[in-house]
Amino acid sequence: MKNYINGSWVASETGRTFQNINPADTRDVIGEFPLSSSSDVQDAVAAASAAYNSWRLMPAPKRGDILRLAGDIFTRRKDELADIMTREMGKTVTETKGDIQEAIDTAYYAATETRRLFGYTAPSEMSNKMNMSFRMPIGVCGIITAWNFPIAVPSWKILPALAAGNTVVFKPSDDSPHSANIFAEILEEAGLPAGVFNVVHGDAEAGSAIVEHPDVRVVGFTGSTQTGTAIAARCGQLNKKVSLEMGGKNAQIVMQDADLELALDGVLWGAFGTTGQRCTATSRLILHEAIHDQFIDRLIALAGKLVLGDGRKNGTQVGPVINQRQLDKILSYIEIGKQQTTCVTGGFRDVEGDKQHGYFVAPTIFTGVTAEHTTFREEIFGPVLSVSKVSSFEEAVALANDCSYGLSSSIYTRDVNKAFAAMRDIEAGITYINAPTIGAEAHMPFGGIKGTGNGHREGGWTVFDIFTEWKTVYVDYSGHLQRAQIDNY
Ligand code: NAD
Repeated sequence: MKNYINGSWVASETGRTFQNINPADTRDVIGEFPLSSSSDVQDAVAAASAAYNSWRLMPAPKRGDILRLAGDIFTRRKDELADIMTREMGKTVTETKGDIQEAIDTAYYAATETRRLFGYTAPSEMSNKMNMSFRMPIGVCGIITAWNFPIAVPSWKILPALAAGNTVVFKPSDDSPHSANIFAEILEEAGLPAGVFNVVHGDAEAGSAIVEHPDVRVVGFTGSTQTGTAIAARCGQLNKKVSLEMGGKNAQIVMQDADLELALDGVLWGAFGTTGQRCTATSRLILHEAIHDQFIDRLIALAGKLVLGDGRKNGTQVGPVINQRQLDKILSYIEIGKQQTTCVTGGFRDVEGDKQHGYFVAPTIFTGVTAEHTTFREEIFGPVLSVSKVSSFEEAVALANDCSYGLSSSIYTRDVNKAFAAMRDIEAGITYINAPTIGAEAHMPFGGIKGTGNGHREGGWTVFDIFTEWKTVYVDYSGHLQRAQIDNY
């Protein structure tokens, strides 16, 4: 398996490779991928720079035609790609199909927006003069992503960036490189000209080379808050535009008047879907004291019935975690949780039968968790849920907000007044009412506040704020020099 540079599949100049391994069965090696260096990145950026001029000058709706076709090809290859994605990163095939559907929706959405990259006009202070401002592409965009949504998350960045007339160098996670190559195959088949989209595989070395390259004008990053913050600091020094989608520690509140069955379904899916490895996963559950005990009893029973296993097998509900490092990290947080709070279910690595060959962690729930406890505060990124008890709506919201992240949030209540107060008062980029903390839609702004982001939003038309710059134009058709009333500009 190779890098994709200037429309060709090429090995890394380093000759180094890394293995892509199935986390459900580590005996299954999917392939060797290039461990690229800065010289590979330079080749990719050179290709993207050379392709930029003709791509930006292509009429935007024609670019949209290519993206629409890409959506059709993603649709045609959905089952095949879902199987590949599950094999390399573990989540169930139902979920990987959902991941690809997100890219399909984004492709059609971005294609449509190529006819609506609206600017605006405004009256001039002077006679016979016209003012307008419109969106311009920026140049080469460096896209660096995590592994948990190998197609959806890159599509949120790459497809709008291309729609706007930029070219792209993409460094996927080294835990999901195969899906990235299929992404390239699909764009190539859709008719994207050589050099407009390039894939460079590797780890932090390749990612860092993208950030450092002077011809990369925008960096779009999804990953941990630690990595993203370091990248943003460097981009600040280099005067580069950078958008960050980082960690989360999302809370679901359940009030005493909630539909408890609905709230149970929501937290099971939010906490243990994708094995808890979503930036939007529910990792904190805040229960009103009036329903706390009965809710926990039901939740323990249901969590204990979730079927762990290979995501490619029928009936599996929870797949493995991504790799040994993440397994070790999750298990160490579980040990801390056991020391500080009460583990009411799970709390162990599951090695039963075939699972001994993979990275499986039983869905784990801690109760008696307060804001002082480690599992309440830190992103674990695994199937671990921390439960806290509150006695009022105000206390619930304050506890939800007692967090260094601010991505997603949820409240289950039948009280419309509390629902509206929660929409206003919960500090997060996304709030769900009577729905779990997960489930983004392609045409809606996506992103978070505090330690989750730096003020940008993917999804919806807001993504074009990341991948375009404003150009303001004044057209003076008076035929003589006009000077502003206050002539000091
Ligand atoms: P990570 O930060 O370790 O890696 C993310 C990407 O950055 C990878 O491609 C990696 O190779 C690259 N990278 C690492 N160091 C780099 C450096 N110094 N310079 C440039 N690139 C570098 O994150 P991860 O473990 O792959 O993903 C899990 C994290 O991603 C979690 O914190 C999760 O919340 C977050 N995430 C956020 C969102 C969101 O939309 N907010 C979505 C998915 C995942």
